[in-house]
Amino acid sequence: MEFYTLASGSSGNCTLVCAGNSLLLIDAGISCRRIEQSLKALGLALGDLSAVFITHEHADHVGGLATLTKKCTAPVYVTRGVSHVLTCPVVAFTAGDALELSSCTVRSFSISHDAIDPVGYRIDAPDGSLGFLTDTGFVTDAAREALLGVDALLLEANHDIAALQNGPYPYFLKRRVLSSEGHLSNDAAAEFALCAVRSGTRDILLAHLSKENNTPELAEYAVARALQSAGFPVRLGVAPRDTMSEVHLCRRSPSFAAAN
Ligand SMILES: [Zn+2]
Ligand SMILES: [Zn+2]
Repeated sequence: MEFYTLASGSSGNCTLVCAGNSLLLIDAGISCRRIEQSLKALGLALGDLSAVFITHEHADHVGGLATLTKKCTAPVYVTRGVSHVLTCPVVAFTAGDALELSSCTVRSFSISHDAIDPVGYRIDAPDGSLGFLTDTGFVTDAAREALLGVDALLLEANHDIAALQNGPYPYFLKRRVLSSEGHLSNDAAAEFALCAVRSGTRDILLAHLSKENNTPELAEYAVARALQSAGFPVRLGVAPRDTMSEVHLCRRSPSFAAAN
């Protein structure tokens, strides 16, 4: 299994996951045209998509969805709450459900965000697993449990707390971002990244960075510093905001499998 982020941040989020013969999109927060162009760069087309999974209804996650559903027939999976506010055709599931596709299983788990019924995902394929956690004020128990032992993890590192506190956002927005229904800080990402690495994760891609209150260097430094103590070889990177990421492989680590 492998994945690419097509865009990441408050101006749009979209991730492509290739799991055997299943091609999944997680969120569609950029224009359908940009999704199509990104797929084309990989030799793929909208018609190749097997399914679309949505985390929540904020515009930076569903902005391109209405057009996408007109141009491709892949089912769009959303939680029941989200199904009530979207106007395009969707398939509703209950947060916590596991959905079996032909070559992978997609399990959802509840997160904490100021949205209706938001979720993160864990995708398991025969060759590896991927965890997906963005847009959450803290790492919920459901997320911790679901993401234990994933091979690769896409993890929100939204803001540097000091940069946010001293930055240009109005007070109400600062409070919102810092709240338990806001976004994960670099420090919170670092704390969870360390737990993940101790449970076997070997590839971490930091995502959904704030343009105003973070930099890729600050996010990566905070997480790398925390991971140093674990002493494991980990691939750590930051998802680019407006362009496609490099390919990330979700492969079971042989050393970890042997030791456990
Ligand atoms: Zn978002
Ligand atoms: Zn959001």
